[in-house]
This record gives sequence, structure tokens and C-alpha cells, in this order.
Amino acid sequence: MNFELSEEHRLAVESWGKFVKKEIFPLAKEYQGEAFPPDVAHELMALMAPYGVGNGWIPVEGGGMGYDYFTSGLFFEELAKFSPDAAGLAWVAEGAALKIYNNASDKIKQKYLPDLVSGKLIGCSAISEPGAGSSVREIRTKAIKDGNSYRVSGTKMWTSNASVADVFLILAKTDERQFSLFLLDRKEHKIDVREIKKLGLNGWSMGEVHLDDVRVSADNLVGPLGSGLRETMKGFDRSRCFVSTLALGIAQSALDDALKYAADREQFGKPIAGHQLIQSLLADMATDLAASKLLVYRALTGLGISPDCSLHASIAKSFSTEAALRISSHAIQIHGAFGLTTEFPVERHFRNSRMLTIPDGTTQINKLIIGKALTGIDAFV
Ligand SMILES: Cc1cc2nc3c(=O)[nH]c(=O)nc-3n(C[C@H](O)[C@H](O)[C@H](O)COP(=O)(O)OP(=O)(O)OC[C@H]3O[C@@H](n4cnc5c(N)ncnc54)[C@H](O)[C@@H]3O)c2cc1C
Repeated sequence: MNFELSEEHRLAVESWGKFVKKEIFPLAKEYQGEAFPPDVAHELMALMAPYGVGNGWIPVEGGGMGYDYFTSGLFFEELAKFSPDAAGLAWVAEGAALKIYNNASDKIKQKYLPDLVSGKLIGCSAISEPGAGSSVREIRTKAIKDGNSYRVSGTKMWTSNASVADVFLILAKTDERQFSLFLLDRKEHKIDVREIKKLGLNGWSMGEVHLDDVRVSADNLVGPLGSGLRETMKGFDRSRCFVSTLALGIAQSALDDALKYAADREQFGKPIAGHQLIQSLLADMATDLAASKLLVYRALTGLGISPDCSLHASIAKSFSTEAALRISSHAIQIHGAFGLTTEFPVERHFRNSRMLTIPDGTTQINKLIIGKALTGIDAFV
């Protein structure tokens, strides 16, 4: 077991970090309070693509960078230190592209994949609905067969990238017990999107997607009829790991900001970093972050390979996202009243980390997955 990054990984992350600081952060930081407009989102995706961020999971033969998940995770973690919004934008787009690469027909792949991997097109995955979050089976969006096409109707909620996406992967019921995945194209299909205002990660679009009797060709099925739920559930291990990389990046920034402030701020005649109770907070933050990293790196390394990869993804996700919240809350405490103001970045880290315990399996759902793996007993219902 080696706990150090290889020289190759270290250099790659260092060079990516320099690029992010110089090219991504200046653009992304203008949108910390509102969603990236479509042109900015596309510009960011095109900038990140040559580094494999947005296409790293797609094998080289599919036009992507063909990274292993650990390497890709390091890139997302580094990006999230500066812009968790850009990291969210890219990993959701990358997830949609990967589903298309793995499951769509050759015709659909030829039409969309080259532009998805280059960042010219942005994808999203619309699963959740107003009445169905943790329990995906309870979705109501329907796709009714009509000749050689389907008529799709329903409302999707919390769809990341909704306002900027060109390609929507919609999970719909094709029968009472059958779920299928359809590709809808913003240019070809009538897709109504309402951007949702939220607590944090405000540069990263999240929207409600409304489909009213939209006619979609049967060619746009992604994967065989009836494979939608299985493919969606398979994708959750991956998305849990990558939400966790956002948590690592945000938590690292919160710790760095707290350390700097504690060294600069003086009370009772010395820097507050010299007070034991401030050091206790810093020690807790560093310990939480170190534990998160080990869990997330283990989950990334085994993703899709280890027989325990679902368990490890749930452990990593539930721990690292809750830890990021504790770490950013401590960072505010160390800043005193200044930490509560928008003049310092720690309130933003807190709001951003607060967003992460909900998506891709809430902390409670991930604990149920862990509990089931430990006991063999399903306690979901
Ligand atoms: C930042 C962000 C990005 C997202 N991106 C997307 C996206 O791109 N596409 C998409 O489809 N969705 C997306 N979502 C939605 C996300 O997947 C859902 O919010 C999540 O699955 C939880 O569903 P819900 O919000 O409806 O909560 P609910 O499922 O209604 O849960 C409410 C509460 O009940 C708890 N709960 C539910 N069931 C149980 C149980 N059996 N036992 C104990 N407690 C339980 C939950 O833990 C939670 O605390 C995103 C959400 C966020 C916050």
C-alpha cells in the first residue's frame, strides 16, 4: 500500500492546477452567484477538454482521454479547490457522454460523441422528479410508443446542467415496470427548462425540465428498451465518487483559508493560530480531510473493478461530504464574524459543501447501502 501520489500524478495535477488558476478560475469566479450562461459553460468545457476533464472517462477509441478513475478524480479534486461549479458542470457532462459511449447506437454515437468529448456539446442526466428522489422507481415520466417513435411527457427536477445542456438523457417509464433512457436534443425537441435558485454551487446550473408530449424517435433510445434503471443505478457508484472529489476540493480550500487567517489574525497579543482551541479546530479539520482523502482515493481506485466498489463509494460519499461540511463550518468559526460575511470565501465553502450531502444518494441513503452490505438486511422500506 503506497500513500504517496506517483511522480507522474503529482506533475500532471500540478500542471493542471496552474492552468485552472490561470484560465478557468478567472472566468468561473464571475459566476459564483448565478449560473454560468450557456456560452460561458461551453467555453469552460472547451478549455478543460484538452486536459481530459469532461471526457477523461471515455476511452481513447471513443475520442476521450481514457483516464482511470483515480487520475480523473485527482483532476476534479484540484479543479474543485478553485471552482466546484466548473467541476460539477464537467463531471455531469462527462457522465452523460459516458452513458452514450457505453450504451447508444452507433448512429447516435457518431452524431453526438465527437462534440461531447470536445466540449462543444454539454450533456445532462435527468432522473429525479418532484415526487421521486431517493426512490428512483417512483418516477412518473412516461414514454408511450407511437409507431417508430415515443411520446415523452413528464417533469424532471434538480437536473444539473439543465440550462446549458444540449443533450438530455431522460429516464422514463416505457411500461408500468419498465424504465428506459432516451436522448433528447435541445435543438430537435421541445424542452422547457426553469433554472432553480439554490443555496450554493450557484455557478453550476440546476433546473426543472418539463416535457409535454415530445415526440422522440426510437433511434434515440440509449441502451436496450428496459435497461434504463439498471444503467442509472450503475452510474451512481461513479457519481458518488465524483461528488466526493468536489467535497475534497472544497474542504481543502476551507482548511487553507482557515490556516492563513489563523496565522494573520491576532487576539490576546498573538496570532489566534497560537491558541490551543484554534489548533484543536485545525487538527479536527486536517484529520477529517485526511480520512476523506483515503476513503475517496480507495473508492476511485476500485471503481468498477473491486467487488466492494459500491460499498466503498457509499462510505466515501457519506463521510467526505459530511466532513466537508464540518470543515467549512470550522473555517467560519476560526474567522469569527468575518467568516459570516461575503468578504471572505469561507461562507461560500460552507454553502457549497452543504449542497453535497443530498445528490447521488443522500447521507441517509448511503448509510442504508452500507448497513445492507454489513448486515445483509435491506432497511430501505
Ligand atoms: C447539487 C445537486 C445536484 C443534483 N443533480 C441531479 C441531476 O443531475 N439529475 C437528477 O436527476 N437529480 C439530481 N439531483 C437530485 C438528487 O439526486 C436528489 O435530490 C436526491 O436523490 C434526493 O432526493 P430528494 O431531494 O427528492 O429527497 P427525498 O428522497 O425526498 O429525501 C428527503 C429526506 O428523506 C430521507 N430519506 C429518503 N428515503 C429514506 C429512507 N428510506 N430512509 C431514511 N431516510 C430517507 C433523505 O435522506 C432526505 O433526508 C441533484 C441534487 C443536488 C442537491
